Amino acid sequence: MSSSSAHRGGLFRSSSSSASASASASRRQLRSSCLASSSSSRQHPFSVVFGGSPSFTVRRSLNHSSGSSSSRYHFLSLSCAASAMMSSESESTAANSNNDEQQQIKMTRMAEWLKKADAVCFDVDSTVINTEGIDELADYFGAGEAVAKLTKEAMEGGMKFEEALDARLKLINPTQQGVDKFMAMHAFPIMPGMRELVVKLLTSGKQVFLVSGGFRQMIAPVANEIGVPVNKIYANNIMFDEEGKYAGFDDTEPTSRSGGKAEAVKRIKASNGFQTVVMVGDGMTDLEARVEGGADAFICFTGVVRRDAVAEGADLAVGEMAQIMDLLL
Ligand SMILES: [Mg+2]
Repeated sequence: MSSSSAHRGGLFRSSSSSASASASASRRQLRSSCLASSSSSRQHPFSVVFGGSPSFTVRRSLNHSSGSSSSRYHFLSLSCAASAMMSSESESTAANSNNDEQQQIKMTRMAEWLKKADAVCFDVDSTVINTEGIDELADYFGAGEAVAKLTKEAMEGGMKFEEALDARLKLINPTQQGVDKFMAMHAFPIMPGMRELVVKLLTSGKQVFLVSGGFRQMIAPVANEIGVPVNKIYANNIMFDEEGKYAGFDDTEPTSRSGGKAEAVKRIKASNGFQTVVMVGDGMTDLEARVEGGADAFICFTGVVRRDAVAEGADLAVGEMAQIMDLLL
């Protein structure tokens, strides 16, 4: 479960905004230039040239007796607009080319990280599966709207992860029997290419872990489907009393607290003697696992939801698991 839906930034938006602002400035400059030419054209009986491109270069004889001044300005306006469009397209093409180059550099660097990685840790919700497990569970227990409202308030209010987890589970008030029934009739869709990626990582000598703020009860079947053993799951545990009623969550799990994913990756790294670990996920808590002693590199997965602030902070953002597969040499 990611707690970062509220984050918004703009890896590509900022660059496109910059290009857009630049294009607007160019259009303003061009408009001023055209109007200046227009003004001078009324004083001097010569032809003037508008537009920088041969296909849009227009010569107009400045004969005051032909055409009204309004039609002349309309003509000037069309000519300037055409030139501005071409300028904007040119700048947009240059910006796209720059983005492509940046992405290529990031991909090359990430291929190097993956090559030396001992393990790759995956977030689960909106990364391995195409949904948020706790939202599905809340819907099943009739608390979908209440949990969604609380999640939004928790993010806006900066509530600690453990407080939000506690509040949401109390709203859901799950039972052992209900969770078992939910899991028996509910299969979480695995993201395309995920199984193949795990196979490729394992055959390349990398270990694969699942690090999630979701629940073991729901993640275990997912892990089984993609070939990850349960002892490589770091996630939360819903507890029940003898009658199967909700009895809280296991607060000894590192993932039950703020900063928990970073702590989980640190434990994975230290206990296995790993030198290099790559984290893959969609949320801010996944990005925050890239700390000293934790994940060395972070891939933002945007295939389910794109959180701009996370993508901006990532070493690489990808929309498909196959893109990570392609980086494994
Ligand atoms: Mg997630």
